[in-house]
This record gives sequence, C-alpha cells and structure tokens, in this order.
Amino acid sequence: MDANYISTLKQRVRQLALELEQTKAQLQLEQQERAHVEATLRESNEQLQQILNSTDAGIAFVDAERRYQFVNRFYEVRFNRSRESILNKYVWDVIGEEAYASVKDYVERVLKGEPQSFEFGMAYLNGDCAYLTSCLTPAFNSNQEVIGYYLFVFDSTERRRLEQSLQAANTKLEKLVTIDGLTQVANRRKFDDYLEQEWRRALHSQQPLSLIMFDVDAFKRYNDYYGHQIGDACLISIAQTVKSTVERTTDVVARYGGEEFVVVLPDTNLSGSAAIAEQIQQAIKALAIPHEASTVSPIVSVSLGVASLVPTATGSPKQLIASADRALYAAKQQGRDRYVVDSTQGEG
Ligand code: GH3
Ligand code: MG
Ligand code: MG
Repeated sequence: MDANYISTLKQRVRQLALELEQTKAQLQLEQQERAHVEATLRESNEQLQQILNSTDAGIAFVDAERRYQFVNRFYEVRFNRSRESILNKYVWDVIGEEAYASVKDYVERVLKGEPQSFEFGMAYLNGDCAYLTSCLTPAFNSNQEVIGYYLFVFDSTERRRLEQSLQAANTKLEKLVTIDGLTQVANRRKFDDYLEQEWRRALHSQQPLSLIMFDVDAFKRYNDYYGHQIGDACLISIAQTVKSTVERTTDVVARYGGEEFVVVLPDTNLSGSAAIAEQIQQAIKALAIPHEASTVSPIVSVSLGVASLVPTATGSPKQLIASADRALYAAKQQGRDRYVVDSTQGEG
C-alpha cells in the first residue's frame, strides 16, 4: 500500500473520530437540554396540579357521553369519594339525579357548543345544602366537533347568604323610609310616591282614582284635655283601624301630617270611595274613644273629604289632593263628624 494513501486514510480516521466526538458532545448537550425541559415540564405540571387541587373551586372535564374524565380535588372533598370513583362515572351518578335534572338543559346546550353560566342549589351527600355557580365551556376537536365540556364550579352559598341579608336590610331600610314612625301606616313620602304612581297608571288605563282625606275633629282640645301621650295613642288606634277597614291590597292609608290622614283608592269611583269614607267614619266611631272636651261629639270623630277623578294628560295628582282638601274643608264647615264628596271634580 502506498504511504500516501495510508496517510490520507489516517487523516480521514482522525477526522471521523473528531466528528464522532463532536456528535457525542452534541448528543450529550441535547440530552442535558432534554432532561432540563422534562424537569421544567414536570415542575410546571406539578404546579398546575397544585393550583388545580388547592383552589376552592371545582374544575373538571366531562366527555360528550357526560362522564367525568378529569376532576380536581374539590370533587373528592365535596362528594367525599375518591377521584377514581368519580372518573368515568356519569354526571348524574356523581351529583345525584335530582341535581342533574336542574342542570340537564345547560349540559345539553353546552354539548351543542354554547357556553353556559348559571347558579343552582344542591345537597351534598353529608346533607349540607349549597348554591353552586357553574361555568360550562364546550371543548372541540380539530374538526370543530364538541367532544365534551370544561366545567368550572364554585360555591356561592356564602355570597347568596350575604345577598339575602343585604336584601333583608334593604327591606328594613325601605320600611323605615316609607312608614310613619308613630302610627305605622305609610308616611307622607310613601303617599306622594304612591299617588304619583297610581296617577300614571290610571292615566294609562283611564280608570278612576280616588282619594279620601280626613282630619281628627277638635284634636287640639283633645291634647289639651288628655295630654299629648294619650293624643299619640289616639292617633295610633285611628290609623290602625282605618288600615284594617280598607280591604284592597292596592288601597294605601298614609299619615299626611299631624292628625290628618289620606287613603289612596285606585280603580275606585266616587260612589265607591264615598262608601269607604262612611265605613271609615263608622269604624272610628266604633272605637268610642272618649273626648269630653269636644264640641262636636262625646267620642273622637273625624271629618272626611272624598275626591275622585279619571286623570288627564294635562292634570296632576295635585288636582286630586286639592279636590279632597276642598271637600274636607266643607265637611269641617258643615259642622264636622261627616264626609263630603267634592262635587267640582266628578269622574262622571
Ligand atoms: P279641627 O276640628 O278644625 O280639625 O280642630 P283641631 O283642633 O283638630 O285642629 P288644629 O289644627 O287646631 O289642631 C290640630 C292638633 O293636632 C294640634 C296638634 O298639637 C295636634 N297634633 C298634631 N300632630 C300630633 C301628634 O303627632 N301627636 C299628638 N298628640 N298631637 C298632634
Ligand atoms: Mg283636626
Ligand atoms: Mg288638622
């Protein structure tokens, strides 16, 4: 063999060995990188698992057959069963037939590809009842076919409870601003709002709206004779008696001010409201509250003004108040302890 050829061959072998070394080094590097990537992946996967499991919300994947394919720890804790006993089980076998019936429509819709969000009540196996807020998001394959849905659910019982107590507080507050502190019937503010509301309604329906305004006779003398506290008690029994005399739930009795009261009577004509005025007068008479200082009657009496009209677009509730006031004034003028119907504003 020629020395030259041998030398070339040796050189080639050296070169190949070098290349081999390089490839080996490269491979080692890649292996290290891969190990690093795998470690990072494992780490982030663990992190993800930790997040999924430590969150106080349920996260799940349900397939198109409505079987759980993934659930986080929330499910194990809330349903008090192992993850293995939940996976591959139908939704109704896990949450119960009754709870499933209330969410069935949402499940059907999400499986048609429409995201769903709702709240529903459910009893857990341990007997606790809870409100759960659920968000269902459809999962698609590459052909845009729905293969199931992702489920995000959190316990909204506490929020509901807060909402309910807020509502109760609001109702109480509402009552405070609409009820007269002494007599416990509606106050002036409530009367103004209600009359305005019923005016608009009657304007629309073209039905008559009536108003009775009444005032205790010789009440200054009553206070002077019996004292202010007994005067207060007298106003309370008058107000409560009138309140129980008017029957319709739409009739509102309110304290207009001092010893003056009003009764709003929607969908009631003049003769109807005159009949109610008479009933009120009789009911107060039946209380038979002694009034020895009265020049009108030996027992507490009232004078009443009755007004009724069908609202017109150019009119206002003031019209009805003025009409009732006029009638009340006439009743006082005519000797008190009576009702007068305002003749200048008939509804026909
Ligand atoms: P009339 O027959 O013309 O209505 O005479 P009156 O004495 O009832 O009328 P007047 O307006 O002169 O007096 C009303 C009295 O009502 C005076 C006031 O002290 C009394 N009054 C008003 N509000 C209250 C209240 O909340 N409690 C008590 N005890 N008295 C009140
Ligand atoms: Mg009076
Ligand atoms: Mg008065």
